[in-house]
Amino acid sequence: MSKVWNFSAGPAALPHEVLKQAQRELLDWNGSGMSVMEQSHRGKRFIAMAAEAEADLRELMAIPDDYAVLFLQGGATQHFAQIPMNLAGPEDSADYVVTGHWGEKAVREAAPYVRVNIAATGYGDGFRRLPPREGWALDPRAVYVHYTPNETIHGVEFGDVPDVGEVPLVADMSSSILSAPVDVARFGLIYAGAQKNIGPSGLVVMIVRRDLLARPGRPMARILRYAEHAGQDSMLNTPNTWGWYLAGLTFQWLKARGGVAAMAERNRAKAELLYRAIDGSGGFYANAIEPSARSRMNVPFTLHDSALDADFLKESEAAGLFALKGHKAVGGMRASLYNAVPLEAVQALVAFMRDFADRHG
Ligand SMILES: *Cc1c(COP(=O)(O)O)cnc(C)c1O
Repeated sequence: MSKVWNFSAGPAALPHEVLKQAQRELLDWNGSGMSVMEQSHRGKRFIAMAAEAEADLRELMAIPDDYAVLFLQGGATQHFAQIPMNLAGPEDSADYVVTGHWGEKAVREAAPYVRVNIAATGYGDGFRRLPPREGWALDPRAVYVHYTPNETIHGVEFGDVPDVGEVPLVADMSSSILSAPVDVARFGLIYAGAQKNIGPSGLVVMIVRRDLLARPGRPMARILRYAEHAGQDSMLNTPNTWGWYLAGLTFQWLKARGGVAAMAERNRAKAELLYRAIDGSGGFYANAIEPSARSRMNVPFTLHDSALDADFLKESEAAGLFALKGHKAVGGMRASLYNAVPLEAVQALVAFMRDFADRHG
């Protein structure tokens, strides 16, 4: 078996055990003699599996009963637009806190559907730190506040949930969901594209307080209305059955490994190991993010001489360390350390980085 360590930002590494189980079950799922992909989402087997996946997610995140859990499609990007369609009327305004690329994109997609107020942005600081909470220009009449707890490209992460008073807090958790415990009750709506910490792309998991589903929003097709999806257990039309199944396997995998709190401990150790290697490299490697805002999931770093980037990428791949090229918006390298990336992978990366610096320093 050829094994590589995959540091991709997304679609990202899935737990090896989950892939093995999916492989075992591929041709004969649950005694049906067929693949899970080949059967009706209205069938007893699928409905039971779907309900179990939801129950496992509810247990993992301690989701209160007054929240609906939806399994949707369209990627996080589609919901940048669909969230204001559902939560805002034509005259309403919403606050956006922008701390990187994805927050900017959320604003751009929302703008046709709600009056966007940029309550705070890290743009002026090159998104290297979080705008301090005291300076946020929140509007108490806003119909929601949107933010990105972890910015996947810039590598900035909130250490805690910001207090925004009574206005519902909407969080794009695509790259941080299930990486550490969160108090769901602090949020109005949480959504996440699956392809970072949950499963394959093409699936979006949404956790939404039920009272928000009663908002009229604006006129729109039924298929865009979250309340309709909630009313039909996310089976208003054919869901992403394969994605839902793999998400369910990942939830079981998480439960078997001690749940989200245990995962948070591992994620902290992984990130610490890598940041320590960067900071202790005598300037050979650098991460420009203010330490208190550093992401545990996505670690961008640069080499002191960008002329070495190509060699770094070539040699790291030869050493079995994949997808370390940084996003073009920030350059350099990026290692994504999602739940499915084991400590062993980070140890291998750090050893490679030390060796590379010794040879090129
Ligand atoms: C990856 C990512 C997205 C985009 O997700 P799509 O499924 O490609 O639309 C949005 N927000 C964050 C924080 C992400 O990491």
